[in-house]
Amino acid sequence: NKTPVTVIGLGSMGHTLASTFLKAGHPLTVWNRTPEKADDLVAAGAARAATPAEAAAASPLVIVCLVDHAVTRESLASAGKAFADRVLVNLTNSTPDQAREIAAWAGENGVTYVDGGIMATPPLIGGPASFLLYSGDREAFDAHRDALAVLGTPHFMGEDPGAAALYDLALLSGMYGMAAGVAHARALVTAHAGPAKAQEFSQTMLLSWIQAMLSVFAGMDAAKMADESPLDMQAPALVNILEASDAEGVPPMLAAHLLSMMKEIVDAGFTDVLPPVIDDLVGRLG
Ligand code: NDP
Repeated sequence: NKTPVTVIGLGSMGHTLASTFLKAGHPLTVWNRTPEKADDLVAAGAARAATPAEAAAASPLVIVCLVDHAVTRESLASAGKAFADRVLVNLTNSTPDQAREIAAWAGENGVTYVDGGIMATPPLIGGPASFLLYSGDREAFDAHRDALAVLGTPHFMGEDPGAAALYDLALLSGMYGMAAGVAHARALVTAHAGPAKAQEFSQTMLLSWIQAMLSVFAGMDAAKMADESPLDMQAPALVNILEASDAEGVPPMLAAHLLSMMKEIVDAGFTDVLPPVIDDLVGRLG
């Protein structure tokens, strides 16, 4: 007597969500624009719906995981009133305002809305490292918490439907910043010593360096940090990254962008330290 679940969208993430519900014993209905992506799920016991409306009608809990907000909005609108009386959990990545827009649509159409963000890649879904953020209708979240927990640890971020998206994007921002740094570090070592060395370097030294720095950031006290590692020490290091990248033929955009960001932060009044070197460099970059 597990809650029947519908999953709309069987891309690499949606398909993983669907098979995870199925393996956990939830009766499953699926819809995808390209129907063949459901073949293996149907062979394993899922029902295939012909339209989003038919999919929504099949289960009290409907999960949507599509490529973006526009496609999600179209798919929901095309279903007319089929989502009425359903709990809709939208796991498509979106902005807080997009989440609020769908919440407003839900309110007008008798749909109970929970927005969500998935903090995991498909292989991590259902495992101990997977967690998901939710916001919106608290009662519906509580009612379906156990079903949602098969995907990863559920965290309720607030009744503002945009809250989950905000925290999701904040976490992604941390990840993308780090990923860009990792890609640039690998490019520098690849240019200098070849790809095999870069691979070895990233699995050993780069990994332990990032882990050590993450523990510094986690406990970061901005005032103390400014004292120990002031901006006028950081700026020349960024200039050195930029110049060394240039010399190795690696595009220096990341360091240049970080320098511009530093200048904007300084100009916005967050600190009165503006090392002349940043001004000079940002000037040269145009
Ligand atoms: P995919 O690109 O693998 O899948 C996209 C899905 O959207 C498919 O089901 C596709 O259908 C459907 N789609 C695209 N365009 C249309 C359209 N015009 N009409 C109807 N359906 C359409 O993406 P993912 O599954 O990886 O990602 C889905 C969501 O999950 C995104 O918001 C993503 O940010 C989020 N997410 C993904 C993670 C990941 O690592 N993959 C991690 C965390 C979140 P079709 O099969 O017919 O093309």
